[in-house]
Amino acid sequence: IDPAVYVRNTIRSVPDWPRPGVTFRDITPVLQDPRSFRVLIDLFVYRYMRQRLDLVAGVDARGFILGSVLAYELNLGFVPVRKKGKLPFRTVAEEYSLEYGNATVEMHTDSVRPGQRVLLIDDLIATGGTMVAASKLLQRLGANVVEAAAIIDLPELGGSQALRETGLDIYTVCS
Ligand code: IMP
Repeated sequence: IDPAVYVRNTIRSVPDWPRPGVTFRDITPVLQDPRSFRVLIDLFVYRYMRQRLDLVAGVDARGFILGSVLAYELNLGFVPVRKKGKLPFRTVAEEYSLEYGNATVEMHTDSVRPGQRVLLIDDLIATGGTMVAASKLLQRLGANVVEAAAIIDLPELGGSQALRETGLDIYTVCS
């Protein structure tokens, strides 16, 4: 079986969560199953092992799980893109809009040095708003965002397409 299909088959779809009419794609079974977790991380490792990256940036909170394991495997450092109000040192912030209201992501000002080649990672791309905000933060710190990666793309929401149109390279394991 194709490794991406193996991962895809392990994702759980939860109907009507967090609201009626929404189907939530739950990756906890992927992490829980040791084979699926390994196959997933190895897909990212093989893709990025020859990319001369400097750093992995993971988005709060599932991007921390994926990004930290991947950074360790690639012998890179890891930096968090956190939700507002969690980071103790000097921060830069980027606000973005959600379906209802706004959200803000933050990074430490010294988390990236100008010119560093950074991989951005999260579990899922829906509208793309989170990835756009995170990549803007990284770019404000002078990073070269080599690619934005996720396990899942929801193409019908147009987020990955919109991200590509901003010039960002996108990789997802499945749709
Ligand atoms: P976006 O900003 O609309 O692209 O939404 C992506 C963000 O929301 C990511 O940080 C995801 O973790 C989260 N998210 C949205 N929908 C889902 C889902 O169905 N499963 C898991 N995470 C989701």
